[in-house]
Amino acid sequence: MNTTQVAALREAAAESVNCDGLRAAADGDEYSLETPEDRREGLSEEAFREAAAAHADYVTNWYVWSRDRPEDRRAFLRWVEGAGDRSVPKRYAALREGTARTWGELRITASLGADGERRYDLRHAADAEREVVDLSVHDDPLAARRLSKHDDDGRYRPLSTAPTLQTGWVFPGLSANELVRAVDGFYPATVANWYRERTGDLDVSDWRGTAERQTGIYDIVDELSSEQVEWIAESCCVDSQCLKRRQWDEHGGEGGELDVPRGDGEFPCREPCSLVIAAARKWTTLEREESREYTFELTPSEKEQVEAIVDAVAEGRTDEIREADVYEGANRYRARFLRAKRFDEAGNLSGAPTDDEDGDEDESEE
Ligand code: SF4
Repeated sequence: MNTTQVAALREAAAESVNCDGLRAAADGDEYSLETPEDRREGLSEEAFREAAAAHADYVTNWYVWSRDRPEDRRAFLRWVEGAGDRSVPKRYAALREGTARTWGELRITASLGADGERRYDLRHAADAEREVVDLSVHDDPLAARRLSKHDDDGRYRPLSTAPTLQTGWVFPGLSANELVRAVDGFYPATVANWYRERTGDLDVSDWRGTAERQTGIYDIVDELSSEQVEWIAESCCVDSQCLKRRQWDEHGGEGGELDVPRGDGEFPCREPCSLVIAAARKWTTLEREESREYTFELTPSEKEQVEAIVDAVAEGRTDEIREADVYEGANRYRARFLRAKRFDEAGNLSGAPTDDEDGDEDESEE
């Protein structure tokens, strides 16, 4: 605690202070200072300073949280250190050790700097136990945007909240403002929407409303049925694909709620995103096709293998399947064997042409 903080508290006491258990007030030349553990009244200026020194953690805590900040940032920063759940002594004990929260795949550790100022360590949750020297160190919050663009294999990430954030980096000593800017770089607008949800102001746009607003090439997505919208949410919006918690449904009326789990993410999704709309456009054209009957010859194991391949691709597991693991249906050699055996020279499964008897392709185009 420093003299500036005490002077600020004394000045603020004239209007009365009430913050996280600290109360301070002034009546003429007399002051009072109160915490849950102590109450002192009729204090002179000198005695007020001594009382403040005896409760330095409360005073620095007030000083930090009396600073002017946008409400959403303030709420987020207080959430990071568990200000709503813990008393100042318990919180300061945790801050002295470093207290961590997870936000998507981010791990945010808050700790105490000089005079109660908070410092924040930001890294991938998977790197929680790694030493700073083993990670690439950043101090400019703008670097977050660049880091969010590619996964560990260098592949472009079209969805910032997909659970594929690259590892191996750290922002070890951010200020409060820098932390929020870095988090926003990784996961744009998540803090603002989280706060809006907490305050009952999240403006949710359901599927039907969003689809009807689409123009140009996306105008067609409103053709999709309720069942197809369920499939979209199941394909894109579950926790294994996106860390936002889906708050939108098909529509807000009776029967408009989707059955697909919303997810357990900390921050909400308020409307179908551009990636989902782009995918929906493709599905709209594909879903215009009628089902047909084909005759394929497959052994029971080959049928199961086709199912295993679809499943492995859908779950993003193909990279994990080792070349030596030929018991896995989606193993590369198994797939190549199936192709060699069951595809004809034109690439048709079991020699069954995709086109109908007249040779017309039945793929609908918008
Ligand atoms: S619509 Fe929302 S929940 Fe679904 S993938 Fe996009 S951002 Fe994630």
